[in-house]
Amino acid sequence: DMLRTPAAVQDAERHTAHNYHPLPVVISSAEGAWVTDVDGRRYLDCLAGYSALNFGHRHPALIAAAHAQLDKLTLTSRAFIHDQFADFCRELAALCGKDLVLPMNTGAEAVETGIKVARKWGYQVKGVPAGQATIVVAEGNFHGRTTTIVSFSTDDDARADFGPYTPGFRIVPYGDLTALAEAVDETTVAVLLEPIQGEQGVVVPPAGYLPGVRQLCTERNVLFIADEIQSGLGRTGATFACEQEGVVPDMYLLGKALGGGIVPVSAVAADADVLGVLRPGQHGSTFGGNPLACAVATEVVRLLATGEFQRRSTELGERLHAGLHALIGKGLVAVRGRGLWAGLDIDPALMSGREACERLMERGVLAKDTHGSTIRLAPPLTITAEEIDHAVAQLAAVLAG
Ligand code: PLP
Repeated sequence: DMLRTPAAVQDAERHTAHNYHPLPVVISSAEGAWVTDVDGRRYLDCLAGYSALNFGHRHPALIAAAHAQLDKLTLTSRAFIHDQFADFCRELAALCGKDLVLPMNTGAEAVETGIKVARKWGYQVKGVPAGQATIVVAEGNFHGRTTTIVSFSTDDDARADFGPYTPGFRIVPYGDLTALAEAVDETTVAVLLEPIQGEQGVVVPPAGYLPGVRQLCTERNVLFIADEIQSGLGRTGATFACEQEGVVPDMYLLGKALGGGIVPVSAVAADADVLGVLRPGQHGSTFGGNPLACAVATEVVRLLATGEFQRRSTELGERLHAGLHALIGKGLVAVRGRGLWAGLDIDPALMSGREACERLMERGVLAKDTHGSTIRLAPPLTITAEEIDHAVAQLAAVLAG
């Protein structure tokens, strides 16, 4: 009996740029926390589309919202208003505790939007001299792949040979308040940070860092922009990772899970004194805030408003982290994270992160390596306690060789 996977893997690679190095699994269907490949093998999805699938694959309420909208209206552009727009904006703004939202599609677009809004706010409200605005960012950041965003990346793979780079950014060590305070001056319009650095390996900043950033930004009249694209919408056990540090940023950048794993939906949320600086013609997107996106994302906001997913992430996250901590010294050298989100450092003498993910795949668990010997686990928030135990047991078996 011939497996279809090897030929399907080759086929998938033949006519594409090699800007990814996927695990050799070809998925054809999925439900909840499980995916099935073209050979009928099932895998527990412990990546969840880099947190875009927080509600699992094909959550019934989200699929129903998408189906219903497909039968009515899919696209108008923002040249006209459609009947799904107001509910989405009002309900997302309420979830964020902000006056306004601006919908886009991808995470990188939300980041670009945040940068543009912060600069305009800097010139028009703060009074920064024309063309002088600076934004302070952190070492090890990941905010996306556009030319401007990679300009302030410190990852050579992400940045090298994509210049000339966009000026106006200052990079400081993540978690270092003194360095941040020194980098802020009268030209600074924003501090842009991930409250937990996902791509870097789920790096949690030291206690007091985010409140310190908040205080500094308030004192120096600088916008605190929280990129919650990966950390937000339930992943860490709260609607926003900032919330767990008692911090309210001036601007939230959201994406990934906002589209329910169905459509790309991102957004910027902020109060009127910030987002209000944009006038017609100054920013936009053909697909941003389209009817299908709004219908699905409104249902996402309603799922989050129940608090059920945040609660699951908190409770099951404790189980996940307890299971992982028990593997320290047994193949793991460190475990970081919060809620159903974990960065694991594998003993590099044992195997690479890639190798560990390949062996996990052979045992029916999908995860993804990042930066050498680190693996990130971010299962759907619908995962059960038994499924978490299963994933941890498979990891233990892989580490035991
Ligand atoms: N910001 C953060 C924190 C992310 O983790 C990502 C994606 O991994 C992005 C921005 C970029 O999002 P997208 O890939 O949708 O452009």
